[in-house]
Amino acid sequence: MNKNTAVLPGSFDPFTNGHADILFRALQIFETVRVAVLDNPSKKTLFSVAERKQLISKVVEKYGERVKVDSFSGLLVEYLRQNQTNIIIRGLRAITDFDYETQMALINKSLSEEVETLFLAAREEHSYISSSMVKELSSLGGDVSNLVPPVINQALINKR
Ligand code: ADP
Repeated sequence: MNKNTAVLPGSFDPFTNGHADILFRALQIFETVRVAVLDNPSKKTLFSVAERKQLISKVVEKYGERVKVDSFSGLLVEYLRQNQTNIIIRGLRAITDFDYETQMALINKSLSEEVETLFLAAREEHSYISSSMVKELSSLGGDVSNLVPPVINQALINKR
């Protein structure tokens, strides 16, 4: 088991400043973080998995080898097993995230006893940022440049 690596899973459609902050903080604890983009064909997304991976790779370039960008389909615990790690990092925004997140953590624990989910509390200034809100705002022509990294902002403008 690789104790120095954690997995940050999510849809990241798109990756926001909230995600970026959770990643930055996870890197204060773990040597390596794998950003794992969920590949779920039944979920309608604005950006394809390939696009999301490519965009996140640009955002995390500054971390070099410490961040790996990957995708996974199926069970997250399977992905962890394949990568010989047992830590899942999730960001917690508000009470509204709590039910869903604890449920997921318990399910993953029941599927694989060695799996631990660590929650990092979202910063107050990011607590209202969600990918869906960013998409909606941007599609209506709103400025989201203070909510997402610059490459994501450009990609959102290109999708309008
Ligand atoms: P999912 O579809 O799996 O919920 P998301 O891409 O929405 O994936 O989010 C991935 C993780 O990032 C989740 O743990 C989510 O709670 C967290 N997250 C989302 N937005 C923020 C934010 N603004 N600040 C901190 N964490 C966040």
